[in-house]
Amino acid sequence: MSETYPSSTLALTSLTTVPITVARGDGIGPEIMEATLRILKEAGARLDIEEIEIGEQVYLKGTSSGIEPESWESLRRTKVFLKAPITTPQGGGFKSLNVTTRKTLGLFANVRPCVSFAPFVDTKHPNMNVVIVRENEEDLYAGIEHRQSADVYQCLKLITRPGTEKIVRYAFEYAKANNRKKVTCFTKDNIMKLTDGLFHKVFDEVAANYPEIENEHWIVDIGAAKLADSPETFDVIVMPNLYGDILSDVAAQIAGSVGLAGSANIGEHCAMFEAIHGSAPRRAGQNLANPSGLLLGAVMMLVHIGQPEVAERVHNAWLKTIEDGIHTYDIFAEGVSKQKVGTREFANAVIERLCQSPTVLKSAKYETKEVGSGVEQFDKADIVQPVKETIGVDVFLHWNTGTTADLGSAISELGASNLKLKMITNRGVKVWPEGFPETFCVDHWRCRFVSPTLEAISHNDIIALLARVSAAGFDFIKTENLCTFDGERAYSLGQGE
Ligand code: NAD
Repeated sequence: MSETYPSSTLALTSLTTVPITVARGDGIGPEIMEATLRILKEAGARLDIEEIEIGEQVYLKGTSSGIEPESWESLRRTKVFLKAPITTPQGGGFKSLNVTTRKTLGLFANVRPCVSFAPFVDTKHPNMNVVIVRENEEDLYAGIEHRQSADVYQCLKLITRPGTEKIVRYAFEYAKANNRKKVTCFTKDNIMKLTDGLFHKVFDEVAANYPEIENEHWIVDIGAAKLADSPETFDVIVMPNLYGDILSDVAAQIAGSVGLAGSANIGEHCAMFEAIHGSAPRRAGQNLANPSGLLLGAVMMLVHIGQPEVAERVHNAWLKTIEDGIHTYDIFAEGVSKQKVGTREFANAVIERLCQSPTVLKSAKYETKEVGSGVEQFDKADIVQPVKETIGVDVFLHWNTGTTADLGSAISELGASNLKLKMITNRGVKVWPEGFPETFCVDHWRCRFVSPTLEAISHNDIIALLARVSAAGFDFIKTENLCTFDGERAYSLGQGE
């Protein structure tokens, strides 16, 4: 096991003390952080720790982001964040601290190694060693949601070319730096041809620059089934945000336990390291929690800050502890485990083994290489801007006072010679002209107006159309321009169009 975390902020092996920001979090957070920091100190980690408060108490004081403004200063100064899990209070109005931190600090890559520790931790997949590289800032996590009508709510899925290039390059750079043989991409581009289609296309483009690394693409549904069934056939998997969020938990759980996995959130300037599990409030304050996820997150941090020898010492002592059957309740199994211990005792056992290595499990070996994140290859100046033309507009209506035929005849009269009503869809399915009476409709209608000659129209044409729609008494809720880029259609057709 030898891991390197590509990053443009990577320090080479450093003998100096490195400032880091630490948050002890909520629930089991303070206990597992205490255990982790004690192990790091005994292992000789050269850290200068600044502590910040985040989470429940900060939320309840009225800061909806869960983090005080002055805490950002610490994070921007140290650029390295070791974070315990936090509790998000129930009820609306609280923003996810994790999403805010990732997006504010530009932590675009979420890296989760999911490794099984058979025969010492029960798993159906003894040979599993998968790294999931999840895009961390885009997709449905852009957080742009609206209620548009009485019936309909919308969440925008945003996939960008620069964001996708960064994450896919990161996945290949990670594979290269860690002697991994294959990078797999999961998308749903058979359905989302533009958004997931872009992710797949960029994957193919980037993969061509890494001929020494095998590459493959799976549709996410069958890919996920294969991951759950035979994870040993995967090596590195790169995915858009939502699929990565879900499947990295699945992968961690089938490796043995979500309690064992750590993750790194890597950006161009900063990085954050944490356990993948939450604050498990019901286990808090009882010296029960397993600190392994946070500890393995801290091991990734040590590699990142240029202390690979300390990372190796800690990881090998941890592997030996697991191998010796000293287990917290969550992974304790009669016949396999030797001793059930609490959080503090588990940390003591790791500290006692700090100069030891496992004898059955593969030892950890770390080196810090000066490798690029791939980010620096992305130069905005290189992009030739495509020629964009607007040839129509989709006008979305909130309407529920008649039949589809009524709507079709009323709306078609509002077109113009260069902007004619082409179709109306409901939930994406064409219902006018020539819809099916069986199609279930809600109060949310998309009316597509297109230039009959596909010649460019102007903003003023759209504004004039909206004025007519409004004057006719219709409630328009939004518009989407229909464009071509370099002559290529840049919008999906209606289902049945
Ligand atoms: P959770 O991961 O906190 O706990 C689920 C269950 O897993 C627990 O009841 C416990 O049995 C077990 N578990 C988790 N970590 C463990 C550990 N280290 N040792 C032993 N057992 C462990 O998930 P949840 O209950 O859905 O969420 C609780 C809170 O955590 C929520 O407020 C949620 O918003 C928050 N959360 C925070 C983060 C984060 O800060 N990164 C991530 C996920 C959830």
